[in-house]
Amino acid sequence: MKFKIFVSGCLSGEKIRYNGTGVQMDGATWSQWKDEGHLFYFCPELAAGFPVPRPAAEIAGGTAEDVIFGKAKVIENTGGDVTDLFIQGARLAIEAAKKENVVMAIMTDGSPSCGSTYLDAGNFDGNVISGRGILAQMFIDAGIKVFSHTDISSAAEYFSTHSISKK
Ligand code: SF4
Repeated sequence: MKFKIFVSGCLSGEKIRYNGTGVQMDGATWSQWKDEGHLFYFCPELAAGFPVPRPAAEIAGGTAEDVIFGKAKVIENTGGDVTDLFIQGARLAIEAAKKENVVMAIMTDGSPSCGSTYLDAGNFDGNVISGRGILAQMFIDAGIKVFSHTDISSAAEYFSTHSISKK
C-alpha cells in the first residue's frame, strides 16, 4: 500500500477556509508527491459539517490539549461554542488517516484545527501565539509527525526517511 501524507484540504487550493479562500502549494517536491499519489487531502471542519464561509474561530482559555481534555473551548467570533464540532472533525480526520497508511501530516499553519507552530491568541484581536490546533495535537498524540505547510523541506526529509524505513 502506498505511503500517504495527510494534507489539510485547503492546501489543494480549494476555497474551503473559513473565509472562502484556499492555499495554493507549489514546488518540485509538492508536484512529485502529487504525481506519485502520496497526498491525502482532508478538511476536519468540513467533515464536521461546517459551511463555507463560516465564522472565524479561535481556541480560548487554553491550549489544544486543554480543549481535548474539556478544559478550554473553541469559540466563534459570533460567540458560538463550536468545541464539540472541532473535536468531532479532528477525530474523523484521525480515523480517515489511519485507513490511508498515513506516515506524516502537512497542515495549514495558524488554524485552530490544523495549525502546528502558531495560532490566533483567542481574543479575536489579531495577535498570534505559539501553539497547535486540535487536529495537529491529536496527530502528535497518535505518534504522527506534523509539519507546517511553510516547512516542506523538513517534511520532505522526514518523508524520504520514514517511507523507506517502513518498507
Ligand atoms: Fe484548511 Fe484545516 Fe481550515 Fe479545513 S480546517 S480549511 S483543512 S486549515
